[in-house]
Amino acid sequence: MESLTCGHVAPAAGRACRHLLSAPEAPYSLFFTGQGDERHLVCEDCERAEEPAARADSSLCLACLRAREGRPFGLISLHGKPEARTRRTSLRFEHRDHPRPELEGTTPRAITPMGAEPRSRWLAVDARGGLLQLDLDAGTTTRLGALPPDSVQLDADLELHVSACGGFAAVANRYGSRGVVIALGTGAVTMKLERGDYHETRCVFPLAFFEDGGHARLVHGTRWNRLDISDPATGALLTPRDDEPPGEDTAPAHALDYFHCGLTVSPDGQWLADDGWVWHPVGVLTTLSLRRWLHENVWESEDGPSRRQLRDIPYFWDGPCCFVDARTLAVWGLGSNPDRLLDAALLFDVESGALLRWFPGPRGALRADGRFLLASAVEGGTQVWDWETGERLHEEPGLVPTSWHPAARCLLTVRDDGSLRESRLVQPEPGSGGP
Ligand SMILES: [Zn+2]
Ligand SMILES: [Zn+2]
Repeated sequence: MESLTCGHVAPAAGRACRHLLSAPEAPYSLFFTGQGDERHLVCEDCERAEEPAARADSSLCLACLRAREGRPFGLISLHGKPEARTRRTSLRFEHRDHPRPELEGTTPRAITPMGAEPRSRWLAVDARGGLLQLDLDAGTTTRLGALPPDSVQLDADLELHVSACGGFAAVANRYGSRGVVIALGTGAVTMKLERGDYHETRCVFPLAFFEDGGHARLVHGTRWNRLDISDPATGALLTPRDDEPPGEDTAPAHALDYFHCGLTVSPDGQWLADDGWVWHPVGVLTTLSLRRWLHENVWESEDGPSRRQLRDIPYFWDGPCCFVDARTLAVWGLGSNPDRLLDAALLFDVESGALLRWFPGPRGALRADGRFLLASAVEGGTQVWDWETGERLHEEPGLVPTSWHPAARCLLTVRDDGSLRESRLVQPEPGSGGP
């Protein structure tokens, strides 16, 4: 094996112009060759030259390629299209249909997984604000309570979350300013949620449960630029802090110019991803340590040392993302032009904020099922990806699920008539009659 231009003896993973070889931090553009996901990286000046791709005359090993691509902030533009990689498998989805007489004719306003055990249990909000527990394994429906009148606007989009213990539900209008927390054991309201009315119609209501020391905790927006953590059992505020007055010529300490949006919590409750935005407007995906915020630094969500910015895209936020393991966040969309984002999954390490790698293909809502990444969109249905290798393993056209139960490993589709379909990914053993 010959030595590459980057100086390493390794297989060539891509090519770059010589300017990027000597300035790995410089902004860059990607030119896809059309051969798999092979691409050339060129600097800003070379991009404007005639035949820009031909300027990429230096060979790079995988580590050197990733060192340059690991800064999504530096990505200027994309040219051409990569090909997704595929691998033949015997994976397929098995479906189970449930006519729901209790729901028939009325589509639930929202539905979300319930419980941390592998049981197909869901919480639904019906058209009149009733909270129904649907146990699809037992075939039972149990009414657990109802949303108080006027607590949310039922004919607008809802955010519905249930704590892992199954004890609490948080409901809010996705693009509204109000919501409520209900103790599911008693049906009692334990908290009212209010995030103010400054551009709230432009971003998802920030809302997420996590567990800390065996107790359910709720992160929720309390102002456009402020998140808090509360005890959903009592409503007690666990992150009390007062705005500090501005100095003579300076902004107040910990002032945050950031609109918090949809939240995603890591499976172990350690990390929070917040896909918010700043003026002009630019979406800025950020992450932070929930443990640090709760136990060490009450200002962690403003300017704590664990806060990381993963990427920024003008006019784009609240995009699809999910944790694929305790520290790795998969995010849809490669590029810097919101109208021309490439279908791709970007894998970030939330502790360092670094882009570990990316692969082309996944589009739509993202959900993690072990080493599988499920990507679902109206166009194309659900595709199953191996997020470690970046290969597409299976496609199920027409499967556009409403929700995903990570513990029961089950997709749920609510049909127009209110009936439900469960879809589970199965891998038939060789010789068991599978394809
Ligand atoms: Zn160059
Ligand atoms: Zn190298």
